[in-house]
Amino acid sequence: MNILITGANRGLGRVLVDMAAAAGHTVFAGVRNIDSVSSQLQAMKDRYASQIYIIGMDVEDEQSVRDAFYKVSEQEAYLDVLINNAGIIKGRERKIEEVDFQEFEQVLRINLMGPMMVVKHFLPLLRKSDNGVIINISSEAGSFANAYGGDYPYAISKAALNFFTAQIRNGLKDNGIKAYAVHPGWMRTDMGGASAPLSPEESAEGIMRIVNREIDLDEEHFFVDHLGRPMPM
Ligand code: NAP
Repeated sequence: MNILITGANRGLGRVLVDMAAAAGHTVFAGVRNIDSVSSQLQAMKDRYASQIYIIGMDVEDEQSVRDAFYKVSEQEAYLDVLINNAGIIKGRERKIEEVDFQEFEQVLRINLMGPMMVVKHFLPLLRKSDNGVIINISSEAGSFANAYGGDYPYAISKAALNFFTAQIRNGLKDNGIKAYAVHPGWMRTDMGGASAPLSPEESAEGIMRIVNREIDLDEEHFFVDHLGRPMPM
């Protein structure tokens, strides 16, 4: 399969690139800054030279996403899987009285508008696949049922990402394209911190099983965890 993964420089995205390439897929690894690719991602590129393409794609910048689309189109005529993984968390410690709206806007631009831009521009390639799938990496923080009084920018961005997923799930179903919002679990990455219970490898393994259709997802639920279990909306 041909798979595009955003935010592939480190964390979950980087591990997903590794696993997808090891499974024999062609991987387009989107990175925010092509001039500062991590040594780990570069090592993977060296290992799977003919399968991994590192593509500059800052999901905060529509021109960068458009340019990335042209670069991927030069290599491949279609895309089977798009994993919108790039994300940031900011303002964790702020109470509602302290919310910084510049910070808020940046979180929305990356966590919500970023995936929307990538879908907007890459749709022509997904439409050419027989089994197109969009996986938006979300978070339990975006669950209405479990809303907690904190992480305002991040949680609201992920709740909106879940809504966007519901929209494209219906809006694109005539094209045979499926869409899921996946909570990857609390992982030991730069974002998740050292005390998280899951390694990014454990999470990526589950997500790859979803990508490879080894987990049968219940058609009714589009918000699931990395093992395909329904998450409360
Ligand atoms: P991470 O370790 O902080 O890595 C984030 C990745 O996103 C980095 O590669 C970063 O690139 C990239 N990125 C940030 N802004 C970008 C932009 N404008 N354009 C392109 N790439 C950008 O985070 P993670 O833990 O792997 O998280 C991956 C996803 O899982 C996120 O969507 C996150 O919200 C979600 N999630 C994580 C947890 C957790 O416990 N970690 C829990 C629930 C959900 P640079 O290296 O260039 O900065």
